[in-house]
Amino acid sequence: MARYTGPVCRLCRREGTKLFLKGTKCTSDRCPLEKRNFAPGQHGQSRKAKIVGYGLQLREKQKAKRIYFTLETQFRAYYEKASRATGVTGELLIQQLERRLDNVAFRLGFAISRRQARQVVRHGHVEVNGRKVNIPSFQVSVGDVVAIREVAKKLVTIEASRDFAQQSPAPSWINVDFANLTGTIIALPKREDVNLPVNEQLIVELYSK
Ligand code: SF4
Repeated sequence: MARYTGPVCRLCRREGTKLFLKGTKCTSDRCPLEKRNFAPGQHGQSRKAKIVGYGLQLREKQKAKRIYFTLETQFRAYYEKASRATGVTGELLIQQLERRLDNVAFRLGFAISRRQARQVVRHGHVEVNGRKVNIPSFQVSVGDVVAIREVAKKLVTIEASRDFAQQSPAPSWINVDFANLTGTIIALPKREDVNLPVNEQLIVELYSK
């Protein structure tokens, strides 16, 4: 399946909750969910069946996939890896998603959304331990120093993103230096460090069937 390139606000409306995919727009009254909190499409308003069981598990998985902009194959691979490791599978799944370089770039204020952060990484604006890395799914490790490359520091979009990011609390597992657009991974993210409207246990139940 190809990566979704349609209007992302539809995804929030489909899930019935804010997935924060558009940066500043998400916290303003321009967010479509404020006025049209029903599923998109012709029958979006009329069909409001209660979702239970498999449907609920599926929606939680879709939500997580959409928040982190991953495809099914990659998301499933994260689950498989988490289920083989020692620990709570759901938490390890979230940890892998959080450790993605595009997510870290978003957390560090290099972009106003994960989708934009993905572009910033793909365009080669990000370095890890002094070396350019342009793979959005790259997994950061404890001790890694993630920074915006010198040539990109003055880009208007990146400066605006940093200002926006500073309005939210910095993640506890990254030592963030907003002034220099850099951050050091000081710990692996725990579930309580990640404010996510997702019940990961339902995702584990879905995949372990
Ligand atoms: Fe979702 Fe943000 Fe669009 Fe609102 S503005 S519907 S939170 S992506």
